[in-house]
Amino acid sequence: MNVIEQMQQELQALKERSNLRTLPALAHEGRNVIVNGQRMLNLSSNDYLGLAADRKLREEFLQELTVDTFLPTSSSSRLLTGNFTIYEELEQTLAQLFGTEAALVFNSGYHANTGILPAVSDTQTLILADKLVHASLIDGIRLSAARCIRYRHNDMKQLERLLAENHATYRQVIIVTESIFSMDGDVADLKELVRLKHAYDNVLLYVDEAHAFGVRGNQGLGYAEETGYIREIDFLVGTFGKAAASAGAYIVCQRTIREYLVNQMRTLIFTTALPPINIAWTLFIVRRLAGFKERRIHLKNISNILRNALKEKGYDCPSASCIVPMIVGASSDTILRAKELQRHGFYALPVRPPTVPEGTSRIRFSLTAEITEEEIKELIQYIQ
Ligand code: PMP
Repeated sequence: MNVIEQMQQELQALKERSNLRTLPALAHEGRNVIVNGQRMLNLSSNDYLGLAADRKLREEFLQELTVDTFLPTSSSSRLLTGNFTIYEELEQTLAQLFGTEAALVFNSGYHANTGILPAVSDTQTLILADKLVHASLIDGIRLSAARCIRYRHNDMKQLERLLAENHATYRQVIIVTESIFSMDGDVADLKELVRLKHAYDNVLLYVDEAHAFGVRGNQGLGYAEETGYIREIDFLVGTFGKAAASAGAYIVCQRTIREYLVNQMRTLIFTTALPPINIAWTLFIVRRLAGFKERRIHLKNISNILRNALKEKGYDCPSASCIVPMIVGASSDTILRAKELQRHGFYALPVRPPTVPEGTSRIRFSLTAEITEEEIKELIQYIQ
């Protein structure tokens, strides 16, 4: 069998297990998607604040633009000629908002997570990572020279045991977690993580706020802001592709870490910087983030309604955020249920292995502030 035939066989096996993925053909219309001519409410977007669906915001942004500021390319890495002043402006704004010494912006969350960990780790580094961290963090760990041990999801007791047993053997230990987990929508125990970090020497904390930036905290800076731990986190990372309705990612950190990354981080050094027009839009949103409080409150409210309804219907729902999974189990059953919701005009999607563990296929409701309470209540009626 040649390699192409082998690929065909593997794809066939995925299909038989209902785990074959395809790129869906869809059109967008504000908060709706149109699939095969059917208009559906999008319940699978990371546009948590509804900013991507907000035409007025884009109109306002367009008014500020001129041909000179509408720059769709940076033409270079930031280390060469791609470091436009708008980058510095965004980074200074972020550092000011977070109250940190520095900030650094990247092309995506994937670039951030696959670049930072290899840059700051060596063979004398131990990474202790939550079992459920995102694929980009796992890839970052794989690319690094560090040794890695995964601890059971949110199991602080096991993490403490691993720290006690191992920390003295290594130059540094980096604890890696998300703040809001992307598939279960539950939250990390930041208080305990910070306590553990301080309980041992040379322990650093890496927190990915991809799903919390914009959504949590009084100013929308994330779960670290909400819990008051911004200053305790050494690598506080977030993305702009979700609630901030843009693209890219950031770290807020000490000046030394920023300088080190500029010198060592391959996914920053060896890539063309995001276009200045994109950075300008991100800055436009970041400056308004604190003002989107009502959207955050509404989002919290509809998330609570859906979560409570799922629990009442007997589902195990670990969520504490606007990511509300309905864990079904078998992939085939999950697909059928998602199709049924779609038939009623709700674009909910199944999430299957390998994205989630075997036997935990789910419909992952990813709510946005554009969805009304009435729509959530209607959705609940169709959930068996
Ligand atoms: N971290 C987490 C927790 C994510 O869920 C994602 C994207 N789904 C990323 C990082 C990657 O971010 P980006 O889409 O900007 O590459």
